[in-house]
Amino acid sequence: MKKVQHYINGQFIDSVSNEFFDNYNPATNELISKVALGREDEVNAAVQAAKNALTGEWGQMKLNDRIAMMYEIANEIDRRFDDFLEAEALDTGKPYSIARHIDIPRGAANFKVFADTMKAVADEAYQANTPDGKKMFNYSVRKPKGVIAVISPWNLPLLLMTWKVGPAMACGNSVVVKPSQVTPTTTSLLGEVMSKVGVPAGAYNVVQGKGSITGNLLTAHKDIDAITFTGETVTGEMIMKACSVGVRDVSLELGGKNPAIVFADCDMQKAVFETTRSCFSNSGQVCLGTERVYVQREIFDEFVAKLKESASKLKLGIQHDESSDMGPLVSATHRDKVLEYYKKAEAEGANVVLGGGVPKMSGNMKDGYWVEPTIWTGLPETATVVKEEVFGPCCHVSVFDTEEEVIKMANDTKYGLASTIFTENLTKAHRVASQIDSGIVWINSWFLRDLRTPFGGMKGSGIGREGGHHSLEFYTELKNVCIKM
Ligand code: NAD
Repeated sequence: MKKVQHYINGQFIDSVSNEFFDNYNPATNELISKVALGREDEVNAAVQAAKNALTGEWGQMKLNDRIAMMYEIANEIDRRFDDFLEAEALDTGKPYSIARHIDIPRGAANFKVFADTMKAVADEAYQANTPDGKKMFNYSVRKPKGVIAVISPWNLPLLLMTWKVGPAMACGNSVVVKPSQVTPTTTSLLGEVMSKVGVPAGAYNVVQGKGSITGNLLTAHKDIDAITFTGETVTGEMIMKACSVGVRDVSLELGGKNPAIVFADCDMQKAVFETTRSCFSNSGQVCLGTERVYVQREIFDEFVAKLKESASKLKLGIQHDESSDMGPLVSATHRDKVLEYYKKAEAEGANVVLGGGVPKMSGNMKDGYWVEPTIWTGLPETATVVKEEVFGPCCHVSVFDTEEEVIKMANDTKYGLASTIFTENLTKAHRVASQIDSGIVWINSWFLRDLRTPFGGMKGSGIGREGGHHSLEFYTELKNVCIKM
């Protein structure tokens, strides 16, 4: 049986206690690997290695060499593309067609974009008069923050982990990563890449394990200087509490309950196409995905019929089948949670336009964690599936009449991550975008990303912005030096 190990101080190792946990293929429920379970010994060793790296070869590396190394990491991911593709698809259940276009290329791009950011970053300088008629000169320089704990989720494992590791390392920090227990493989595979391109030992460390055990130990460790976390809002709250001890910085990319607003003057084809993507891509397991759709009354029936037609065409299938559009959910636990929401929607009076249950899958897929793409209408705005993040392939479609009304409906949530607006009237699009409380607004599109832009959520969706130079605010300390002249 394949083993997934920790990567600590440049070495692949098992746990001292020799404990492992099981990792399953979500499409078939077959055991695919045994994953090392990290406890105190492994967390301590990884943090110590990361700390030592800061004063060793890694910490002393010249900026240009570090930037070149970031490019080498990206190039090596590209060279090992097929290994990453297979590992990511097997852990998550997602079709190759998705991982090939999103997860793996973005995993590589996340190193290049932050290498470029570091190359271009300027220091600040100010001149001013002093009270005694002389002058002062101030300059501010950035230094790495130290040892960064990276705690990442399972929905886009390599992409979201490197979204943090890329800028953290480009800025000169060392990292200790704890990936999700259900998608451990590509994080360890990245350790092979680091070794291959000669990243000094201790700069990149991985401790595999469960959130309640390994994650807790890592966030509580006194030598962790800052924590960057992507995951559920409730976990984010716990991590924020852990950060208060020692007054450590925290970046939180959390859950969402993202609205799509479809005005009667939209391009119908575009709105249906993009909303199908935003609701059902990656089996609805995208933090930026839409779960609430608001459609203006004049086109409500037509839009619902077309969304149903479009979603009905999605082909559920195994990872390596190139015609698969949608995979299973990531784990049996998550499948059960999503199916509970499906039941609740019906119990609260939803009209099930599409799906609502478990599809019949054949062959070795029959034991996988499959659920049907699902569309509901008819629920009040207070209904559970309109309020809570389901994180499955589903959406509720509500009707609205006026712009003012839909802005209120869209903002009536504890989250504020992303939203989409469909209208051909650009003045209206800008007017509505300015009033929506979300960190990201897409107009007539979805998931179009320029990695230099600020990424993050308002309200319960997180704290801080990452992306381009915004990531530097978190991954570096700014030091001001004042000289009297
Ligand atoms: P999760 O919070 O359950 O787990 C995320 C990570 O935290 C995992 O590695 C887990 O092991 C770890 N963890 C859990 N409990 C912990 C603890 N007490 N201490 C330390 N670590 C702990 O989230 P998930 O189910 O893996 O991911 C899905 C969630 O992530 C959804 O809510 C989704 O919206 C959110 N998400 C947000 C973004 C974003 O950019 N805002 C991106 C992707 C996913």
